[in-house]
Amino acid sequence: MKLSCRASLIKPSATLAITAKAKKLKSEGKDVVGFGAGEPDFDTPSYIKDAVKDALDKGLTKYTPVSGIDELKSAVSDKFLTDYGVHYENNEILVSCGGKHSLYNLFMVLLDEGDEVIIPSPYWVSYTEIVKLAGGVPVLVDTSSNDFKFNLDMLKESYSPRTKAVIINSPSNPTGVMMNDKDLIDIAMFAVEKDLLIVTDDIYEKIIFDDKKFFNVLMVDKSLKENTVAVNAVSKTYSMTGFRIGYAAGKKEIISAMNNLQSQSTSNPTSFAQYGALAALRGNLDFTVKMKEEFEKRRNYMLEFFATEIKSINPVKPDGAFYIFADVSAVLKSSSGAIDSSAKFCSYLLDSYLVAAVPGIEFGNDNFIRLSFATSFDVIKEGLRRIKEASKPENLNKINLNKLK
Ligand code: PMP
Ligand code: GLU
Repeated sequence: MKLSCRASLIKPSATLAITAKAKKLKSEGKDVVGFGAGEPDFDTPSYIKDAVKDALDKGLTKYTPVSGIDELKSAVSDKFLTDYGVHYENNEILVSCGGKHSLYNLFMVLLDEGDEVIIPSPYWVSYTEIVKLAGGVPVLVDTSSNDFKFNLDMLKESYSPRTKAVIINSPSNPTGVMMNDKDLIDIAMFAVEKDLLIVTDDIYEKIIFDDKKFFNVLMVDKSLKENTVAVNAVSKTYSMTGFRIGYAAGKKEIISAMNNLQSQSTSNPTSFAQYGALAALRGNLDFTVKMKEEFEKRRNYMLEFFATEIKSINPVKPDGAFYIFADVSAVLKSSSGAIDSSAKFCSYLLDSYLVAAVPGIEFGNDNFIRLSFATSFDVIKEGLRRIKEASKPENLNKINLNKLK
C-alpha cells in the first residue's frame, strides 16, 4: 500500500525517540545516563493527582464539551488576566491534548498550501513538521549570530507576501534564551502592519532564572490580542507531561475553527485530566518555584563544569527552560573527520559512553547538541564526567568509523 505524500513529509519526533531509546536501554539493564527527556523529573504535585482521583470517583469519565469543561476555560481565562492583563471569553479559549496539539490545531486551520511560517532557528522539533503537515512552508531564520535572539531585522529579511505567521518561543527550546522585550514589541508592530499572526508558545514561561521576568507582547498592548494566538500547557509548569492538557487563546474565529477540527479528530481532551489541570491552574505556584530553583542550581553546575572541565564544548547560557544547547564543533574538529555531525556525535556518546543527548541538527543547528537537565544531580554529574572522557581527542580518535551511523 502506497502511503500518502503527507506521511512521507513527516519525521518522527527526535526528542521523543531519543528519550524512548534511553528508557529502553535502561530497561535492558544498561547504565544509560539520559540527557534526552524534555520533561520535568519531578512527581506531579499530590493535590493535582487528588483532583483527578476525585473526578474519577465522581464519575466524571464521560465526554465533555470538545473545547474543554467551562471551569477549566474560566481558569485559563483568569490565568491570562492575571499574567498578561488580557481578558479572553471562554469561547476564545480551546483546551487540547497538550500544547503540541494546540499548535497542530492552529496551523491546520491557519495555513493553505504554500503559506509561509517564520520560525526562529534553532527551533523546537515539532514546529517545522506541524507546519509542513498543514501544507505550509517553514521559513527558518538563523539567530545564532545574535546570541540566539530573534529580532525585527531577521523578521523583515524572511518576510514575504506568503508569510502568514511567526512563531515566538521565549524562553526557547532548545537554547533556553529569552528574547529582548523591545525586539518582541518591534516584531509585534510589524506583524500588525503586515497582518501576520503571532503564535506565542509560552510553555516555559514559569521556568525562568536569574530573577529575569517573562515577557509577552500582550502585556503591553491588549489590542494585540487580534493578531496573537497564545499557546500554553500545564505540562512543564506543573510536571504534568503525561496528562496531555494544553490550551490556546485567540480570536473567536480562529479558536472556533480549531474547535471544529478538534471535534472531528480527538473530541475533548481526557475528562479527568482536565480536572487535574483545573486544580493546577487554580492552585499556587509553590511547587513550580521549588522546581525552578532546583533547575537553576543544575544549570549553574553544568555551566561551571563546561567552563572549567570541558573547555572544548561551549554551552549557551539559558535564561529559562531546562536545556543546555552546547556547541560541540571544536570536538567534532578534533575527531579528525571521524565524527562530522551532531547526529554522529550523539551516536558515539550513546554507543560508547551510554549518554543520551539530542543532536542539534534536529533543532536546525548541526554544531550543537541538546542536554536536558530535567534529571537528577547524580545523573548530571555522571553524564558530564562521561562527556568529558568522550570529548578527549585520544578517545575520539579511537572510535570505529563504521559503527557510527
Ligand atoms: N512547545 C515547546 C517549545 C515544547 O518544548 C513542548 C514540549 N513538550 C511543547 C510545546 C509541547 O508540550 P506538550 O504537548 O507536552 O504540552
Ligand atoms: N518538548 C519536549 C522536548 O523537546 C518533549 C518531547 C516533545 O514533545 O518534543 O524534549
